Amino acid sequence: MKKVTIIGAGNVGAHIVSAGIARNLPVEFYLVDRNEEFEAAQVLDLKDALLFSPQSKVFAADFGDKNVLDSDVFIITAGASQKPGETRCELLGRNVKILQSICDALGEIKDSTVIVLVTNPVDILTQLVAEIFKLPAGQILGTGTLLDSARLRWRLAEKLEKNIEDVSGYILGEHGDSEFVAWSSVNSRDNFDENQQAELQEKTKKEAYKIIEGKGSTYFGIGAATAELLSHIIFDTNKILPVSVPLTGQYGISGISVGVPAKIGVGGVKEVVELELSVDEREKLAKSAKKLKELFEGCERRI
Ligand code: NAD
Repeated sequence: MKKVTIIGAGNVGAHIVSAGIARNLPVEFYLVDRNEEFEAAQVLDLKDALLFSPQSKVFAADFGDKNVLDSDVFIITAGASQKPGETRCELLGRNVKILQSICDALGEIKDSTVIVLVTNPVDILTQLVAEIFKLPAGQILGTGTLLDSARLRWRLAEKLEKNIEDVSGYILGEHGDSEFVAWSSVNSRDNFDENQQAELQEKTKKEAYKIIEGKGSTYFGIGAATAELLSHIIFDTNKILPVSVPLTGQYGISGISVGVPAKIGVGGVKEVVELELSVDEREKLAKSAKKLKELFEGCERRI
């Protein structure tokens, strides 16, 4: 039984737990939120699903609780969410402050803890938390372009009338406006001409804005994606997923966290997978990383 603390019991945090319970993960989930009444209500609602997934458990908790400090995995979803029309980077200032206060509240954590960032802008906050906690490489990661790649794959599958598991491919770079489809990684790329590729990329990239305009926030996809990521960490599967990793020279990038494929297992990221990208794709990745690095270096922060 693994202990997993979710910090932020809002839409995203609760949907991660809900998706984890639906998979009957052998996990004790501890939810921590600054709004205690809301947190208690979310926990009660989630407990109502436990009968159907007897391996999962869920509890309300506070930052100082023994089980929280003893957690194998922290998933951080706390923070402000995007307003309609707001870019993820515009959220940066607000969420850097929230993240710093959470790291202060967590204090000393176990050396083996894995921390998964979901709060946006996820790449920059992943780098921030990596610099605060200085855990061994791989133990701090963000959901990165996992959700974006899932968005691409259902579109490819629908267009081709194929099973979604039979279409592969990654979105790389920022979880945000400078992300791009690495067409060299898409197994069905020859079915799409240049215009169709551009249209697919644009629709995938703009999907979050459309959902936020229509219903305020996105949570089903990220809930399922993060529960999937968590399952590969706890079952130590070595699955390759596109996540945000603080890079240290891979793809010629360092000092910033960016969405790249990585082998996932018990310690978080076991290895960054270096794809053979085209020259154009390498340039796009470098450009996306440069944008993130400049934003990270320009934001007011304490480390
Ligand atoms: P939400 O407002 O529903 O929930 C956020 C929760 O965080 C609230 O319950 C709030 O009380 C809590 N919180 C705020 N500050 C806190 C603190 N210091 N300590 C503890 N709890 C605190 O928002 P949401 O829709 O759940 O979105 C959460 C974050 O996830 C946002 O930043 C959003 O942009 C991000 N998100 C990321 C992805 C992704 O792919 N990475 C996808 C969707 C949403």
